[in-house]
Amino acid sequence: MRHNFGAGPCILPQEVFKQAAQAVLDFKDGLSILEISHRTSEFEGVVDEATRLVKELLNVPEGYSVIFLQGGASLQFAMVPYNLLPEGQTASYLDSGIWASKAIKEVSTFGKANIVASSKPDNYTFIPKDFEIPADSAYFHCTSNNTIYGTEMFSFPETNVPIVCDMSSDILSRVIDVSKFGLIYAGAQKNIGPAGATVVIVKDEILGKSGRKIPSMLDYQIQASNGSMYNTPPVFSIYVSMLNLRWLKSKGGVAEIEKENKAKAYALYTEIDRNPLFKGTCTVEDRSRMNVCFVMNNPELEKPFLKFVEDNGVEGLKGHRSVGGFRASMYNALPITSVHHLIDLMQTFAEKHQ
Ligand SMILES: *Cc1c(COP(=O)(O)O)cnc(C)c1O
Repeated sequence: MRHNFGAGPCILPQEVFKQAAQAVLDFKDGLSILEISHRTSEFEGVVDEATRLVKELLNVPEGYSVIFLQGGASLQFAMVPYNLLPEGQTASYLDSGIWASKAIKEVSTFGKANIVASSKPDNYTFIPKDFEIPADSAYFHCTSNNTIYGTEMFSFPETNVPIVCDMSSDILSRVIDVSKFGLIYAGAQKNIGPAGATVVIVKDEILGKSGRKIPSMLDYQIQASNGSMYNTPPVFSIYVSMLNLRWLKSKGGVAEIEKENKAKAYALYTEIDRNPLFKGTCTVEDRSRMNVCFVMNNPELEKPFLKFVEDNGVEGLKGHRSVGGFRASMYNALPITSVHHLIDLMQTFAEKHQ
């Protein structure tokens, strides 16, 4: 068995893979999910159920639309200012990692980004906290989990400015209060389903105010009023996302998976702090539960350690090139037994290299 700690596209539950494989062969009356029209009532049922499950699992209040789009989280970096930033106005951004900085880069086409704070000089090892959001900002953009650096926001600012949040790598991993946000977006391939779909949850009342002429495909209002079906949606990604959302619901929902995610993170960080060979790379209070980044006190041991774990069934542990070392991504579907397996390997390796 392989233990998949990859950062994304990531592990999904085995039963979801099995059901998805079955639907490729026979979804309805011998027809594959890949060959039916997206306008059939069967597929409309899939989109409806996936949308309903997102609303139910995240307790999305009235007055919000949930839509499945394409283009990944990266297209949202541009769609957000296109739809929410009026000509001549400023949007505020928290620069907490590479994804945040890529989002900031896209603003220049539409207007001005005001960077309220940045942890870049410290290689993004923490989440900046003491900052002001100017009241005249069109919106405030932040990244709830910095996938590459392994930091996570455990509180969000109190402000009257609409908060826009890139939750690509921790959506559905913990309970959040959606009513505190104007817009949430997430590429599916980390905790929702396979690559190809992007989930957007948007408060309807913040839309339609930019005064810009927006191409239909990039207009949240048009996408929302067409129920994610303005054009052919990414049918397979939405279908498998629906299966994964069903799985999450059957596990007891977000509050239950949050307990497991806390237990997994606690176990691994405890070992990193205890084992003399390893150390974490981030400020302790900002440590992510989804992406655990760590290095070795003796960098020369990193290659042999990586080979040792790979020889023992561990996949995807190599850190991002901008941090080095290791990154253990522990999305919802990663069982705690995989975390215990990794911890055992860290201990065995340490015994050999005291
Ligand atoms: C992976 C990731 C992205 C990029 O997602 P794409 O769907 O590949 O565009 C953006 N933001 C965060 C936080 C991510 O983890």
